Amino acid sequence: MENLKCANCNSVSFTEHERYFECDYCGGRVMKDPREYGVVKSAAIAVSSSAASLLERADLYWELGQTGKAKRLYQQVLDLDATVERARERSR
Ligand SMILES: [Zn+2]
Repeated sequence: MENLKCANCNSVSFTEHERYFECDYCGGRVMKDPREYGVVKSAAIAVSSSAASLLERADLYWELGQTGKAKRLYQQVLDLDATVERARERSR
């Protein structure tokens, strides 16, 4: 896990799933290579990290009450688009 880095947002925080790691910040997925388990490179990620999709995920975490994750995502939304009022309010 230590070598893992998200190609979208440079996050090093991942949640492990059976077949892939999911970036905690943008939801980008890193497929596990069965031959090199644990040395997964981030090259395989192909997930949009547009402000809109980040905002969608942030809202989802917010609804679920996971405000810590939501706030980090809202901050990333603001990095891409500082005019999103909702993100500004909720990332505080
Ligand atoms: Zn990411």
